[in-house]
Amino acid sequence: MKSADVVIVGAGGDGPAAAMRLGQFGVDVLVLEAGPWHGNEEWPNPHEEPGGELSGSTDDLSGELLEQQWTKREQEMAGKLRWGPADYDRGAWRRQGTVLSTIAGVGGTTLHYTGCHPRAYPSAIDDGFPIDYADLVPYYREVEDRLNVTPAPTTHKEELYYQGCRGEYDLLTSKNVDSTGYRPQPNALLRPDDRLRHDGDYDGGFTAADGMDGDTLAGVETVGNPHPVGADYENKAKRSSNVGFVPPALETGNVRIRPNAFVTDVHTESVMGTPQATGVTYRDTWDGTTERVDADVVVLAAGAIETPRLWLNSDLPSNEWVGKGMTLHYGDAVIGLWEEKEL
Ligand SMILES: Cc1cc2nc3c(=O)[nH]c(=O)nc-3n(C[C@H](O)[C@H](O)[C@H](O)COP(=O)(O)OP(=O)(O)OC[C@H]3O[C@@H](n4cnc5c(N)ncnc54)[C@H](O)[C@@H]3O)c2cc1C
Repeated sequence: MKSADVVIVGAGGDGPAAAMRLGQFGVDVLVLEAGPWHGNEEWPNPHEEPGGELSGSTDDLSGELLEQQWTKREQEMAGKLRWGPADYDRGAWRRQGTVLSTIAGVGGTTLHYTGCHPRAYPSAIDDGFPIDYADLVPYYREVEDRLNVTPAPTTHKEELYYQGCRGEYDLLTSKNVDSTGYRPQPNALLRPDDRLRHDGDYDGGFTAADGMDGDTLAGVETVGNPHPVGADYENKAKRSSNVGFVPPALETGNVRIRPNAFVTDVHTESVMGTPQATGVTYRDTWDGTTERVDADVVVLAAGAIETPRLWLNSDLPSNEWVGKGMTLHYGDAVIGLWEEKEL
């Protein structure tokens, strides 16, 4: 039986963005996510009990619940934001080596990313991939608009760094990095409230009730970040995909997300000798039961390791790019000595 026009595997960084766009076109989308969903009233205790089954409405999203569940305590959050089943009593899925790299849950690894949104180096794309950098630019723009990507705020520490760069390098003003230079990192945390920009003379509160709008500079990105406290789910400062893409996807009325559903197989049938995807089977991570979902199209958005694993374990056609195309993650640094009086 057909269950959706399109099934998307994974509600991490990419799955909700694809779901939003398809939903806007009127396509019926089911997203299957292996991990839990935080801040959704269908799952008030997502690590203690199975909760609901599906959610397809922004009415289910709750900023208050997110604040209760994302405690900002690092050890506790390392248990919640992990690559493993929602059930706290069971171990992580170990095969990816480092447990804290990939995160299972609606929002995926963006739940603990730091919101930096640099575009790729044009040369890295043009010299290494079968697409042109120019083809990516409209998509970069759309993501940057949707997630309110702006230059990261400059504190005294960053200002010192810029001071070291000046004289040697140019300030880069274009989003395309096609020459050497320095700049504030493009960032998807909403700009700090205006009152926090003035040299330490703000002595009010930091919640939405105090009028706080945007990043509070609390710096809890790696443990989820539920700030500003009291803000609606959609208005949290960190634009991880659960906040930036899931609400607009649900607003289309065509997208449903089913957490706690680990896809184990992509089904195919042969069309003129070539296998074509017809659906998937997933395992409920709470009770172990399996279910088959048929669809016209299957989108794999399960991350850099699980997507190729699923592809290679299913009867899908061979493609030389599966599992390839991963790039280095450079952290550029400028190191220098300052005169003490300048510090
Ligand atoms: C500590 C850290 C900081 C980072 N900071 C930044 C940053 O500042 N800027 C930046 O651009 N990038 C950053 N990244 C990288 C960024 O988070 C990832 O590149 C991005 O999340 C990848 O998106 P994705 O959709 O491919 O995979 P993911 O976000 O990992 O999502 C994959 C989803 O698929 C689900 N899934 C996997 N297998 C299955 C299955 N079989 N069935 C159902 N669901 C499945 C997973 O549970 C997960 O939710 C950071 C990463 C880490 C670890």
